[in-house]
This record gives sequence, structure tokens and C-alpha cells, in this order.
Amino acid sequence: MKICFNQATTLQNSNLEKDLELCEKYGYNLIEIRLDKLRDYLNTHSIKELSDFFRTSRIKPFAFNALEFVTFRSERDYEGIKRDLQFLCEVGEEINCRKIVVVPSFDVGDYTKKHIKEESVRVLNDLAETAEKYGSELAFEFVGYPNCSVNTFGQAYDIVKEVDRDNVGLVLDCFHFYAMNSRIEDLRKADAGKIFIFHIDDAEDLPAGALRDHHRLWPGDGAIDLDLILKTLKEIGYNEMVSVELFRPEYWKWNAEETVKTGRTKTEEVVGRYFEIG
Ligand code: ZN
Repeated sequence: MKICFNQATTLQNSNLEKDLELCEKYGYNLIEIRLDKLRDYLNTHSIKELSDFFRTSRIKPFAFNALEFVTFRSERDYEGIKRDLQFLCEVGEEINCRKIVVVPSFDVGDYTKKHIKEESVRVLNDLAETAEKYGSELAFEFVGYPNCSVNTFGQAYDIVKEVDRDNVGLVLDCFHFYAMNSRIEDLRKADAGKIFIFHIDDAEDLPAGALRDHHRLWPGDGAIDLDLILKTLKEIGYNEMVSVELFRPEYWKWNAEETVKTGRTKTEEVVGRYFEIG
């Protein structure tokens, strides 16, 4: 299992250049690059510098985060999403980063699950068609908030199965899985090949529907039964990568080096019980 760093973990105490240097130092295999951090980086660096860095380093880019709120958008907003997609596909080609996280919309109104599925399938197919031309893949991330249009693993998996394209899969994020009571039986029935990205984290012990990103904790420090999720992933034959993704303001106050180092240690402690890391 390769170990990956998601830049949300150091959202307010680092930048891409620093994250890359620290992740290389602390032995991460992969990084998930945030779109906002990439844009900041490109203000003072070139894509060539980034691709040179990856060519001469152990760490490799794995995915971009994220095209957000892709469904139920106005024509004009959707055009903006398509422009961002194009940009990420082009940069992805240069640096060999082929996965893009896509997030469903929130507060869409009183649509039925059937209607949400139709809209999600339509949009994913359209975005996937563009991505395919660049050899890029889309990872659809359900969000465990009550007002997200796709908020459980089962619902997201159903959509991705319906899309049925090689370049469309899922993000499994332990926090989102736990936050709206996704069912472990649904994960047990899933095809591991459809899980493109695995986000690890933990959560404070709040009831379903009350958890928000700032309640995330380091893996092993919270209420999520991570052992059950990891055991199930092992059972279904998933063994690709694990990405530590926190959004906790408390950790953003730390020195970035301490955050990157702790992310690695905490993830290895929990995941190392079931998988060989690296
Ligand atoms: Zn996530």
C-alpha cells in the first residue's frame, strides 16, 4: 500500500513547494495536489519545474483535488468546471498525474435519489469524455454531510456502476463513510478496482449528520472503526494507496513539518496492522 499526502492536511500552514520537500523527507510515495495550491505555485514556478522535481524525486503525483459541486450547475458555472478540468488534464499530462477528484453538489433542492443519479451519471459521462482524451481518470467523492446530494458509499457506488466507464471510479474517505452511516456491507460487495482513491482520517464522536470537516482527527485518534474498513478493503483485494486527508484547523496551527511527519506516523500505525506500507 503506497502512502500519500493530501494537501488539505496542511491547508493553511504550507504550500506546494514546501509540502513536496517535506513529503519527500518523510518518505511518502505519493501526493494529492490541490487545485488552489497548484495555481499559487504556478504564480512563481513553471510546470516544467514541477515535472523536473517529480522526475528526480521519490514522491510522485497521484491526484488533483478537486472539481467541486459538478452537478446541477448553470450552463455558465459548468463551463468554468470544464475549463478547470481541461487545465488539470493538461498539467496532468505534463507531470503524469492522471486522477482528478470530482465532488457532487450540495443543497440541490428536493430531488429524488433517482433524479440525482441521472444528473450525476450524465455529468460524469460528459466530464469523463474530455478526461479520456488526456488519459485522465475521475474519482467521484461522496461527502458525508446531510445536505450533499450524494452522501453515502452505496449511493456513490451505484452511480459509478451505472456510468460504467474505465476512467470513472470512487473516492472512499473514511470520514465521509462514517459521517452518514455508510454500510460496511456495501463496501464488502464493491469491486476494489472501482476505488480509485482511499482517504484516511478519523472523527470526533458526534452523531450521524452532525460531523463536519473540522471534526476530523488523525487516524487512530477518533471514533471511526478504521480496523473494520481496512479489514474489508483487504478482503475485497484493495491494495493501492492510502492518502492522509485532514481538515482540522488545530493542525494547521502546527509547524508544517510536524503535521507532515505526524500524518505519516499515524497513518502507518493504523494501516500497517493490515497492509505493508510503501
Ligand atoms: Zn476526502
